[in-house]
Amino acid sequence: MIKIDDLTVRYGVATALDGVTLTVGTSEMVALIGPNGAGKSTLVNTLFGILRPASGTVTTSGRLALVPEGRHLFAPLSVDDNLRLGAWRNSDRDTGLVYELLPELTPLRKRPAGRLSGGQQQMVALGRALMAGPDVLVIDEMSLGLAPLVVEHLAANLRERHAGGLAVLLIEQNARLALDLCTRAYVLEAGRIVAEGPSAELAGSPEVATAYLGLEEG
Ligand code: ATP
Repeated sequence: MIKIDDLTVRYGVATALDGVTLTVGTSEMVALIGPNGAGKSTLVNTLFGILRPASGTVTTSGRLALVPEGRHLFAPLSVDDNLRLGAWRNSDRDTGLVYELLPELTPLRKRPAGRLSGGQQQMVALGRALMAGPDVLVIDEMSLGLAPLVVEHLAANLRERHAGGLAVLLIEQNARLALDLCTRAYVLEAGRIVAEGPSAELAGSPEVATAYLGLEEG
């Protein structure tokens, strides 16, 4: 669904991504983890055509939808109107399916999005992306600023969507969550992929465990 090949992206003379290669297959759930400034947002912006690569290629198939970092909801608009905005390219703007998938949004449908809790807002952002009828969902920092229980609830929902055949690229600073949810992962540091493989393997590697999971080496 996503094929990023030898991608280099620069801001002027500064190189933000340096020869990054990454794939997400049909119905696959893949994580991209890395610290602040590693180049994660640059990768998202290049994937969605906002930034132009200096070299390399980005190929996508099917429909891509983004749950952006910080959610970017329209605060004065109702939950239902925010959801509808996710389907601006579709003729069908029926929000019914999203309420079926995310039933906790049903009692909130008329509430201004700006009045919701962080977790509820993240749910609306997820619902808005689902309104596009995506084949692959790109989620930028799903867990940022949310309580562990809320994150668990979102993760459970994502697992369900994935079980239904949705491919996911999960971009996370919370490596534990990302490695737990996804079968495969990439580690991005200073614009380069420094490790990749099955999540269980990465979680077991001393470098990843020390740097990202807060575990002592040895
Ligand atoms: P964060 O988690 O903090 O959002 P990130 O992994 O998303 O970090 P990017 O925002 O993609 O990282 O930044 C990658 C590198 O590119 C950083 O060194 C950053 O300072 C630099 N950078 C990002 N945006 C610009 C810009 N508009 N002009 C110049 N340099 C930039």
